[in-house]
Amino acid sequence: MQRTCANCGQPMSPAGRVPRDGVSFCYAPDCRRVADRLKHQRYMADPERRARFNAYQNSRRQARPIPQADPSLPPLGLMVYDADGVPQCHICGRFYRGLGLHISRGHRVPVDEYRERFGLKAGQPLVSLETSRLHSGRISKTIAEGKLGPRPDLLPRGATRGHTTRLQARISNA
Ligand SMILES: [Zn+2]
Ligand SMILES: [Zn+2]
Repeated sequence: MQRTCANCGQPMSPAGRVPRDGVSFCYAPDCRRVADRLKHQRYMADPERRARFNAYQNSRRQARPIPQADPSLPPLGLMVYDADGVPQCHICGRFYRGLGLHISRGHRVPVDEYRERFGLKAGQPLVSLETSRLHSGRISKTIAEGKLGPRPDLLPRGATRGHTTRLQARISNA
């Protein structure tokens, strides 16, 4: 069993790094860097993992707000609200309590398309903060009263595999 660091060659205590494929490294900063790089290279050698890693990096990049050509309009990837919590339209820059309705009726753009075009997450509320809070408050109360289960995606992985996630199905008949 190897007892010396694969990078600096110094002998290691049994508490040294866990060996990977017969190679282990000590806790010296330089050796840890080499170990981390090796681990990353091994990880990226798998095409499936590489694709997942790149997708994650891209999602992080898109999460940052990108200014629009007209700086008076809200940036991509960010909802802008006025002092009363009323959201601003990414297309015309006006403020509407029921922004979703304004987008679909006024601009004739489906709200899903709007969210995608302006880098907003799927299901991003397009209402005033007040309405949004009232709504989530009502949902929390319904969960507290036991009429609605918690969101399946917040349960431990695998717990709800194969179960329906439709809201209607989660509301008990009580
Ligand atoms: Zn070392
Ligand atoms: Zn508008």
